[in-house]
Formats: sequence, structure tokens, C-alpha cells
Amino acid sequence: MPTLTSYDAHTRNALATVEITTAEQIPALINDSKKAQTIWAALSLTERQQLVTQAYQRLEPVQNQLAILISKEMGKDYRRATYEAGGTIQSAAYFANEIAQALTSEQLEHGTELQYRPLGIVAVISPWNYPLAMANNLLMPALLAGNSVILKPSEETPLVADLFVNSLNQILPEGVLQLAHGDKQTGRALVASNINMVAFTGSMSAGKDIMANAAPKLKRLVMELGGNDPMIVMASADIDAAVQFAVASAFENAGQMCTSTERVYVDARIAKEFEHKVVALARQYQVGAWDKPHVNIGPLVNPVQHQKVLEQLQDATAKGAQLLLGSDTYPQPFIQPTVVTGITPDMRLEQDETFGPVVAISPFKEIGEAITRANDSPYGLGAVVFGGQGANAVAEQLEAGMVGINQGVGGGNAPWVGAKQSGFGFHGSAAGHRQFAQVRVISK
Ligand code: NAD
Repeated sequence: MPTLTSYDAHTRNALATVEITTAEQIPALINDSKKAQTIWAALSLTERQQLVTQAYQRLEPVQNQLAILISKEMGKDYRRATYEAGGTIQSAAYFANEIAQALTSEQLEHGTELQYRPLGIVAVISPWNYPLAMANNLLMPALLAGNSVILKPSEETPLVADLFVNSLNQILPEGVLQLAHGDKQTGRALVASNINMVAFTGSMSAGKDIMANAAPKLKRLVMELGGNDPMIVMASADIDAAVQFAVASAFENAGQMCTSTERVYVDARIAKEFEHKVVALARQYQVGAWDKPHVNIGPLVNPVQHQKVLEQLQDATAKGAQLLLGSDTYPQPFIQPTVVTGITPDMRLEQDETFGPVVAISPFKEIGEAITRANDSPYGLGAVVFGGQGANAVAEQLEAGMVGINQGVGGGNAPWVGAKQSGFGFHGSAAGHRQFAQVRVISK
């Protein structure tokens, strides 16, 4: 039986191995999933909500174990991992209720009824950077809509997925939620199999491949993809607030966050002060292993990601960017807090998603130049502008699914949504929850 190994992101020691689900095993998985789905869909929405809520209560006793596994497998510090595990578990009942409300049938005029029916089998394919939260965002609406789910977690974080799914399955009827371990090959085989929907969070390139493989049978898609989020700092901005945000957002989860600030365009009149303050704040960040107190930047998830960040930094310095803090040659597994200025459009730091703890600064002379560069990207997940008067007008011109004005993106129960090639479909909000269902109109 082929296996994959889970590694400790800090030490690179093997933690455990799990069995890979091969392409040959997928038809049997689908068979079980289909049988279970028929029974699951026959329950009322309220019964499904009750069972899902009870199932999530089974995560409470393992919350700390989940947090430790998140830290070990992907490297984030224990405080953040606890926040991820605790947030997922504590908000589960509320989330289930919100989804159930969105999926309740609606009566329209003239006796017409709008129903939200199951699609069938949903493949949830999730990334490693928030291994529990990202899987949960897709899995819960898929289940409540009456679908059965096959979760294909990231090959970097299989142990988090094992504990998550095994705990839920103490309550959920057999076959309603199954796991398929493996890398891209397992993911591709699942997408090509007899499923009805792919709910995916991951990179833009994988999203494109999934879309192509889902096309022959027009399988439904929700895809939350990568980002290369810009931040514009106007001369009228509260500089200290902008500095706080830029550093916190660029360094969150060691920069491995889809909406981390990847490019900062700062008005040249305040650029020196901004850079000076960013460096001072960045110096305060502590890098280290997840279980050390005061650490707020852990290791990068794996050597490939570490190398990718270094290559982008080396490309930038070779093309004339100046390092204000840090270097472009860190030994594995850490990238120290890095601040670099003088970024130009030809640099990979500008063009690509970096996914490392790097504040990349470009001073600008005209606001139009900042807006053009912010928008000159195939990505369009989030964007942020800090400024006084005129900030709203700048925000209006930014091509992103989510825009923050003097704050980060998202909030409330708004959709989590990408524009351009950062997404296709979305989750979150009533409109997002309904994407996991087939809309059916009954006219009487
Ligand atoms: P990834 O695309 O490499 O992998 C994500 C998942 O897809 C994994 O389970 C992987 O095995 C699987 N996969 C990869 N290629 C596939 C294919 N061709 N067919 C089917 N499955 C495939 O992404 P990652 O490195 O795990 O995660 C980081 C990426 O996720 C970043 O780009 C980040 O911005 C993005 N992300 C986006 C959001 C969002 O909400 N928009 C949230 C978190 C992460």
C-alpha cells in the first residue's frame, strides 16, 4: 500500500505515515459515498444540522491535540494554531445555524417555491496553510446541503485531517464524510471521478487544472485561489496604523496567508518614515519553533516553499531592490522578518505570490501609478488602501473581490471572494452557502 509521510515543519523529522488513496481505490469510495448520500439527503435539514453540530462537539476534547498537530505539520506557532482550532470548534454551532438558514426553502410569489437541494458527492480539496479552517469552510456547507463529502486534505497536513474527520465520524452516519489522502495525483483522480462538485481552496495553477478536469461533465465548482494582495498607503494615511497593518499582514502565518499583504505602494513623500517604522516594528518579531514562548513567525512549511521565497528575494536584489532588514540567503527552515524596498514591476516579488514573511515596498509619485500597479496582476483576491480623504475613491478603482479601507479585508458574514484569477465561485454568506446546493424551482 503506498503511503505518504507527514513531516514536522521545523525539524523535518517524520511524524507518521498515512495510506494514500490511489486512483484504483476511488470508485469504491464513490460507491460508499453515493449510498450514504441517499440516506443523508433523506434527513431533514434540521436533522442534518443537529447531527453536524453534535459531530463538531466531538472536536472539543481533541482541540489541543488538533492545535499541536497544526503547529507541527505546517509550522505555525501554538497560539495561532490554538486560535485556528478553537475558532473552528467554538463557531461550529453558529456556522451550522447560519448555513441552515441560507438553505431553507423560500416561498416566492404565486405559490412558487425555491429549494436548495443536494448536488450529490462533493470533493473538498484543501490546502495546508490553515489546514483545519480551510477544510471546515467548505465541508460544513457541503454536508448541510445534503451532500456526502470526500475530503482530500493537503499532503503536508494529513494528521490534522485524520483527527478532524475521525472525530466527526463518531457521530456522522457512515460514508457521509470520507478521507482520500495523497498529493495532486489523488486530487486529480478524485476530480475526474463520479463526483458532482469540487470545492477547492489552493493555488491558482491547481485551480485551472481542476477547472479543465471538471469541464467534461460540467461539475460544479467553488474555487478560492491564491492572491498577491496590494496595499496602497496614501500621503494622508495614519502612518502608524498603516505600518502596523503592513507588518502584521505580511508576517501573519509566516506570510503564508492567501490575503497577506504582498506588495506595498507608499507615497514617496512619506516613504522614508514608513520604511523606518516598518523596519523598527519588524525587528520585534520573534522567529522560532512553534512551542517556544513569544514566537510569532514559525518555519516555512517545507524546503520547496523556503526556496521559492529566497529565489524571489534574490531576483529582487539582483534587479536593484534594497534590503532594509534581513537577507536573501536564510538557512532552512526559517525566513527572518524581511523588509525590501525599490520593488519594480519586472521583479518576481511584484508578479508572484510570495508566501513568506516579507514586506515588499515600492514608493510611488502619483496615485494613478500605484493603482495601475496594484491592478496589474492576474490575481484579485484582496486589496487594501490606507488614507484620509480620497481613500474611498482609490478603493473603488481596485480590482479585487475584497477591499479594505484603513483595515484588512472581509468581516461580518460577507462572502470570502476573489476577483479575476483568484477565484471562481465563493463561499461564506447566504449566497456562498447556496453554491453547495442545486437550486430547484417548484411552480404550483
Ligand atoms: P495547492 O494548490 O498546491 O494544493 C491545494 C490542494 O490541492 C492540496 O490538497 C493538493 O494536493 C491539491 N492539488 C494540487 N494540484 C491539484 C490538481 N491539479 N488537481 C486536484 N488537486 C490538486 O496549494 P497549497 O500550496 O496547498 O496552498 C497554498 C495556496 O492556497 C496559495 O496559493 C494560497 O493563496 C491558496 N489559498 C487560498 C485561499 C483563499 O481563500 N482564496 C485560502 C488559503 C489558501
